[in-house]
Amino acid sequence: MVHLNLGGEPLSAWPGYGEAGAQPGGNQAIDSAVHGPAVIEAVLFDKDGTMSHSEPMLEALATARVFHCLEALDPQGQQQRREALDNLLRSAYGLTPAGIHPASITAVASRGHNLIATATAFAMVGLGWPEALAISEDVFARTDALHGQGSQHRPQATDGLADLLERFSAAGLRCAVISNDHEEGIHDFLAIHGFQRHFQAIWSAEHRPCKPHPDAVHGVCRELGIAAGHCALIGDANSDLRMARTAGVPVVLGYRAGWRQPPPLDPDVPQLQHWSELTVSHSHPDRGVSIGTIGSADDAIGSQPASDSAKA
Ligand SMILES: [Mg+2]
Repeated sequence: MVHLNLGGEPLSAWPGYGEAGAQPGGNQAIDSAVHGPAVIEAVLFDKDGTMSHSEPMLEALATARVFHCLEALDPQGQQQRREALDNLLRSAYGLTPAGIHPASITAVASRGHNLIATATAFAMVGLGWPEALAISEDVFARTDALHGQGSQHRPQATDGLADLLERFSAAGLRCAVISNDHEEGIHDFLAIHGFQRHFQAIWSAEHRPCKPHPDAVHGVCRELGIAAGHCALIGDANSDLRMARTAGVPVVLGYRAGWRQPPPLDPDVPQLQHWSELTVSHSHPDRGVSIGTIGSADDAIGSQPASDSAKA
């Protein structure tokens, strides 16, 4: 049986796990997770801000959307209205002098949600909804090329991710991406960084329901063929972490190093700053004792941080 350790400490299910009546992994999965180190068979990863440094790309995208929205409003128009729209869009997008806010709609939500937020900003400065939506769709069509691996600011993998994925694969763990990016964007990111061989499933913006509906977790678990009760999920947004707990995932971890500003994560969720903090260990299913000392350097598979070959 495989377990995850954080900072050398074995990870058990979060307090209160299995008490809410939901049993997505069945009683057996809950029992194994509640008593002692959780048995993990698969790890679900968020992409933007967790697997990838997406902030430079998203900052360029949001800045371009603001520019084109102001141009579309009326270049010769009332200055007060332009300033109001500028402020509304920057607030909605989480576009600050310190970078993209990691809990903002730009950082967390789908293109569709960002489109509606943009149209709402137009409506708030006086446009009718049909016009607000039409202009927003045009602005997004003009700026879509700034998103994804074709961007000048192509997202890099977060430090140590390549090494972590090697260790997970060596331990027999299955991996999946659960993201609000489009399927093509997820595949491109995995392909460019050579990560495809580590992933057996993805759940994208095209899948229904999307994140953060808990059934998104159940959907990707079905594709993996592994119960939610035998999964871990790692994300950089509270919406990810709460979704995972509601879905019955026993080990839920926050990742903090994907943004210039640390994401404001729920304090009761274990959090990591570097992938080298996360290690893997084994225990014997019959004897019920760990082989070696769980969390020790000897027992962890590849616990020594190595260079991340995927990083530019
Ligand atoms: Mg994210």
